[in-house]
Amino acid sequence: MMTTDLLARRERLLGPNVPIFYDEPVHLVRGEGVWLWDADGKKYLDCYNNVPHVGHCHPHVVEAITRQAMTLNTHTRYLHEGILDYTERLTATLSHDLSQLIMVCTGSEANDIALRMAQAMTGKTGIIATDNTYHGNTLATSQLSTRRPPIGGYPRHVRLVPAPDSVRPVGGTLEGQSQAFAENVQRAIEELEAEGCGFSGFMLCPSFANEGIPAIAPGFLDPTVEVVRRAGGLLLCDEVQPGFGRIGVNFWGHDWLGFSPDVVTVGKPMANGHPAAAVVARPDIMATFRTAFGYFNTFGGNPVSCAAAMATMDVIEADGLQENARVVGAYALQRLKRIEHPLKAEARGLGLFFGIEFVLDDGTPATDFAAQVVERMREGGVLMNRIGRDMNTLKMRPPMPFGIEHADLAMDLLEETLREVPCDT
Ligand code: PMP
Repeated sequence: MMTTDLLARRERLLGPNVPIFYDEPVHLVRGEGVWLWDADGKKYLDCYNNVPHVGHCHPHVVEAITRQAMTLNTHTRYLHEGILDYTERLTATLSHDLSQLIMVCTGSEANDIALRMAQAMTGKTGIIATDNTYHGNTLATSQLSTRRPPIGGYPRHVRLVPAPDSVRPVGGTLEGQSQAFAENVQRAIEELEAEGCGFSGFMLCPSFANEGIPAIAPGFLDPTVEVVRRAGGLLLCDEVQPGFGRIGVNFWGHDWLGFSPDVVTVGKPMANGHPAAAVVARPDIMATFRTAFGYFNTFGGNPVSCAAAMATMDVIEADGLQENARVVGAYALQRLKRIEHPLKAEARGLGLFFGIEFVLDDGTPATDFAAQVVERMREGGVLMNRIGRDMNTLKMRPPMPFGIEHADLAMDLLEETLREVPCDT
């Protein structure tokens, strides 16, 4: 079927609520490793998808899903080893007594639970996030999102603090930025207390991924952690983007930043594309949550999801994918840093999540320029996208088996594209 026919059918059947990438949408039919193919047989290098973490259609994961689906699939109200084996495997990678887990299907559900855990532990509702983040699509998590402010404005119990921004830093040096960030959190806590909501917790992504992966460093959050702890709030760490080794230097973003969260949420890459996510917390938090809310998730933790998640972990470890992310990520970033371009404001990255921010001569974001670059890269057979407050930062976040040769291919095409796209786009 022609792309135009598919688009019309999609619009008729799905309405406007399923946004699509690219001016010329891509109709994908097959994937393998870091490669994707469209219906015309055109091959693309995938520099965007972090969900197929160990590579598209990895045979070990496919086989694990198939085997379990052919044997049994039920819910967690029956006994099954799958969820127990996986919990032992996952929690072995975490410290800080993060030893119990609730499995769900999406990162949004996981974060929704994390918010309720903070409420249960403190008896308060006030929650803080950054002003340029995304933590999910449930009612509670979408109230933290700045992409589309909630109808009726932000609720009284939500406060958003300015996200770290390495191109327009608030506070000067990195140390000053770290201090300024903590001061804003302190101010938000005081406002929540004055509102009568009190302060339950701070939800954050340790790599500030949706904020545009600003160039921060370990220790950045130390003053903030002190402020949150002093006020009796919980640190709710959203590892949906940085987790499972993507940042290379550590398996988890909070271990890289150097702080101990009370609750960790994981999702997207957890089962290589099969919908699985989880909330991991200390036993005391789990117990208090149980008393306050009670929770059951029909699909969360089913044996097929657990088999997929387990197989994903097998491949991460067997293929040394965290180390690969460290080495190839550093290489790609070095190449990005070497690029000279009049609109380039900053090249930055952390493991296999990297990009370039573009700014016009007058200091305003080069959003259209970045959009054009993304379109041209797609034409050239490399899929990537944009990120950041003004969507003027290229976002490259490939599957983890991304090698040096793939980085070279993407960077060569990017250099060529940057020479071709007019700066006044
Ligand atoms: N947290 C972060 C940091 C995310 O980037 C996302 C999804 N982009 C979510 C949570 C929500 O995950 P899901 O789409 O699985 O609900």
